[in-house]
Amino acid sequence: MWNFATDPEFQQKLDWMETFIRDEIEPLDYLFPKDETYNVNNAALMAILDPLKKQVRNAGLWACHLPPALGGGGWGQLKLALMNELLGRSFFAPTIFGTAAPDTGNAEILAHFGTEAQKAKFLRPLLDGDIVSCFSMTEPQGGADPKIFTCAASRRGDHWILSGEKWFASNARWADFLIVMVVTDPDVTIYRGASMFLIPTATPGVEFLRNAGMAFEDPAHGAHAYLRFNEVQLTDADLLGKPGDAFKIAQTRLGGGRVHHAMRTVGLAKRAFEAVCERVQSRTTQGDVLAAKQMVQAEIADLWMEIEQFRLLVLQTAWKIDRHNDYKLVRQDIAACKVLSERVMVSAASKAIHLHGALGISNEMLFGEWLLWGYALGLADGPSEVHQVTVAKEALGVAKTIDELFPSSHVPSGARRMQAKYAKELELPGHRRGWVN
Ligand SMILES: Cc1cc2nc3c(=O)[nH]c(=O)nc-3n(C[C@H](O)[C@H](O)[C@H](O)COP(=O)(O)OP(=O)(O)OC[C@H]3O[C@@H](n4cnc5c(N)ncnc54)[C@H](O)[C@@H]3O)c2cc1C
Repeated sequence: MWNFATDPEFQQKLDWMETFIRDEIEPLDYLFPKDETYNVNNAALMAILDPLKKQVRNAGLWACHLPPALGGGGWGQLKLALMNELLGRSFFAPTIFGTAAPDTGNAEILAHFGTEAQKAKFLRPLLDGDIVSCFSMTEPQGGADPKIFTCAASRRGDHWILSGEKWFASNARWADFLIVMVVTDPDVTIYRGASMFLIPTATPGVEFLRNAGMAFEDPAHGAHAYLRFNEVQLTDADLLGKPGDAFKIAQTRLGGGRVHHAMRTVGLAKRAFEAVCERVQSRTTQGDVLAAKQMVQAEIADLWMEIEQFRLLVLQTAWKIDRHNDYKLVRQDIAACKVLSERVMVSAASKAIHLHGALGISNEMLFGEWLLWGYALGLADGPSEVHQVTVAKEALGVAKTIDELFPSSHVPSGARRMQAKYAKELELPGHRRGWVN
């Protein structure tokens, strides 16, 4: 039952992907900033990406996260983990393979909860890679706590009137439409009182206050919008799912989204590791290559072990999702993958910076960007701390309690129990702990 081998036919596809990504896609990181990958207005980039996308389609690998009914290969999560590991090596690869977040998650909820009209208008072009989309939930004053969200829609006649602000809405500036999660019933808990609306970005009343970028990015190129909704008029036809369904819908999206980020993180961390190994074997100081120094070897060993442990957890999580077909049953594993994504990426990028010296810290390498991305992984799709709590709660949920003064692993109490069980044997001579008479 346990088997870590990849079947040869699938390995051929992975081999094709690896060569294609290394040769054709990774070098794009040297030409364009990473968030440009979503910029459908960047004519030069689109002229490069379109033929590459065609090659992916011809290889039958477009949208590998999707079932065949939606135009994907239906590979399942375990095979997807191996593919995403390769796609994670460059920020451009997911776009070229039709698997870029947040469009993947947005497509998933549209497929699950959208009406036929919504699917025709938004889902089809999204799946075809013709448009990009945005998922907007976070508020400037609310951050990760939906209980203090204020962006709300209320009924006025046949309409919904939506007002309020949203923060860090990734790719909104290039998106054809926004999926916005707002309060629709302030009298019940937010978990039943929030709804999702599908809003074309050009809708009157949708205002871009500014586009925030990541640290060090050119302010003109920020990809994370600060949005204001000024009495935007909507109807029931713009609702995704039913009123009050927003959290149910968000969970469908976020479980998959988090584990897919983790799969890709394995790939980027491995790329950082490769860079480190190349550098320390090529750079000489004090009479020898860096790789000959034991302290450097310790760093290499630690990073290899961190990445391998993480990779195995990600693969096992993917395997469990395939097995149970229910994200809820794999909640603890997904939460652990989410927490480790940040740690492993920060560790890999930090070591890459450190072991490349001044070059590593300079803007002539990508490691600073990757380090910041590591920290971003701890915030995007919810802060790591919340997921640590999930891991702990699940572990505690299956742990036993004991109604005795001393714990079940208490040596004198255990010795007493064993003495009763092995009274005859213990009459024989032999050295034993002092607690056993
Ligand atoms: C790259 C990137 C892309 C993003 N894209 C989107 C997007 O497309 N759409 C969208 O809606 N949002 C997006 N976000 C926003 C993201 O969801 C929020 O950053 C996240 O929910 C945290 O909220 P906050 O940034 O306001 O931090 P805060 O909630 O203010 O948190 C501040 C600090 O407190 C910690 N913290 C938070 N809660 C707890 C807790 N319960 N216990 C202990 N510590 C805690 C956090 O980890 C953090 O260190 C994105 C974020 C990033 C970094």
